[in-house]
Amino acid sequence: MKRFSISKKFGFLSLALALASPAAARADCGPEALGVSRVIEIDRAHGAAVGLQTYPRTLDLNDHEVVLTFDDGPADTTERVLSALAKECARATFFIIGQNAENMPGMVKRTAAEGHSIAHHSYSHPAKTLRLMSEAAAKADIDKGIAAVTKAAGGTAAPFFRFPGFADTPELVADLLARGYTVFGSDLWASDWSQMTPKAELDLVLSRLEKTGKGIVLFHDSQSITAQMLPDFLRELKKRGYKLVHIVPGDGPTPIAEAGPGWTSTTEPIIAKTLSKYTGGKDKAATQPQAPAPANGDHTH
Ligand SMILES: [Zn+2]
Repeated sequence: MKRFSISKKFGFLSLALALASPAAARADCGPEALGVSRVIEIDRAHGAAVGLQTYPRTLDLNDHEVVLTFDDGPADTTERVLSALAKECARATFFIIGQNAENMPGMVKRTAAEGHSIAHHSYSHPAKTLRLMSEAAAKADIDKGIAAVTKAAGGTAAPFFRFPGFADTPELVADLLARGYTVFGSDLWASDWSQMTPKAELDLVLSRLEKTGKGIVLFHDSQSITAQMLPDFLRELKKRGYKLVHIVPGDGPTPIAEAGPGWTSTTEPIIAKTLSKYTGGKDKAATQPQAPAPANGDHTH
């Protein structure tokens, strides 16, 4: 009986702790907050490669549904991003660099504790991308990243992966899918690696969202302009009737929508351009048919 009362006490204590920290923000969330309108389970047994900017399919979202994703953290700016999300009871997915997770494990833990999905983005985020590494070296970097992020998160992370710079290879994608990882591209991005004001980023990403009507949005929590504009962006989503969808690992099946006819990759011409400085223009991607270059000199991170 004594054991029972101790475990009861501990149960109460952990409940009290759980209510004390991340939920402090949750308590303020009334109907005015953006919140999460639904949760989509991503099949952890059967991987897929989604995100129309890179793959001819994406998550089957309803009109005005948005999935928020943040890459390249944790960084000094991540705290501000987390606070903005907490204030709106919003949930996002963080594609974390293994090296950064080792440097700031506390921030990874906090991100997980606040209900966000913890996902992977390689260990070293190599400038020349995983595509230009040997397959063995690329796989080692991916796995080292997964191990570092999982450890920092406290033992569990989602089987979600995003290639740095979207520079995948068929072999690496096949390997990840076979292991139950879902590979995420994006449906639109905020171009937050470009030099602009937070207001310019806000206007740009909102105009892109109004055009696509829905989708997986890519931001970088490592970018100060994104941290600065995020509160306004979340307010604007609420005002314009957008609904937030949170993605979590589950037993699926993952809801997938195939791209229409005439689909082309947005990222491949950009990758080709980025990589040509390493390959002297001889990379296989550089010889693929070029889609129209996106506006404002985009390159991807
Ligand atoms: Zn990145």
